[in-house]
Amino acid sequence: MQNYELLIDRISKAAGLEKDDIDRRVEAKKAKLSGLISKEGAAQIIAAELGISFENDDFKIAELMGGLRKVNVVGKVMNIFPIHSFEKGDRKGRVVNFILADDSGSTRVVLWDENHIKMIEDKIIGVGDVIEIKNGSTRDSEIHLSSFGELRKSDVVMDDVKNAPAASEIFLKDVRQGMIVKIRGVVVQVFQPRFYSVCPVCNKKVVSSDDGVFSCAEHGVVEKKDKAILNFVLDDGTDSIRVVMFSDQIKLLLPEEDLKEESKVTEFRDDFLGTEFYLTGRVNRNQLFNNLEIVANGIEKVDPESLISVLNA
Ligand SMILES: [Zn+2]
Repeated sequence: MQNYELLIDRISKAAGLEKDDIDRRVEAKKAKLSGLISKEGAAQIIAAELGISFENDDFKIAELMGGLRKVNVVGKVMNIFPIHSFEKGDRKGRVVNFILADDSGSTRVVLWDENHIKMIEDKIIGVGDVIEIKNGSTRDSEIHLSSFGELRKSDVVMDDVKNAPAASEIFLKDVRQGMIVKIRGVVVQVFQPRFYSVCPVCNKKVVSSDDGVFSCAEHGVVEKKDKAILNFVLDDGTDSIRVVMFSDQIKLLLPEEDLKEESKVTEFRDDFLGTEFYLTGRVNRNQLFNNLEIVANGIEKVDPESLISVLNA
């Protein structure tokens, strides 16, 4: 929703209208189109109707949405993936992806032009550099740069970047490996929690010896700490997916130690099953089962009251 808020803000400033007013127009447009488009999509139509063009505008990364052309972004290169060669029919070429972040979020940038790819290859642009992108286009929230686009190093100093990609709210039937997603779904199955032991200092796995002593590769013999892993299945009506949840997120649901007591696990499970959540996380392929799963990095109960206020707005 953050994406939408920023977009509404942008439209309201450009149009000189109140945000509430824009929001009402968006809802009306969505209703007129029988809810077939997203709020972001409806907002783009409203912007076009108001004569607002985002062409040549500077965008914050969290504001990006699919279907924009001529987008300008400034951000810091966080991670560069290996260059790939491809051959599609008579089209042959190379492509490289990297992660770009600013203070609003991060996204993937895809370079298709050989001159741009050379800049990566020759290390003219590397990890940690702040860069300027002009004339990019977007697919979902990714930025694609063709030979019409421009890529250069920027003088902008950027210390405070948010390298957590903005999650896109999506249906489970549409999730693909590697996506950062936000799913609204119901817990339909909960598996027995499992535990593993870590070093209390560095949180890395410890090895146990026969005499019940635990040692960390870095910190020697330590008093081990147990961490839980919780697996459950989330269903959003279009599909279901297995979710893997580690300590940090489990703590948002219940004290981790409670998962060691059978009675408390039963109580938690009864409560958790059938509950509706917003879940964010990364879609991974489970190598063992060769199916997709989500590694959770955020969970929030769907609050019926706030939902009703959104629906009535
Ligand atoms: Zn350690």
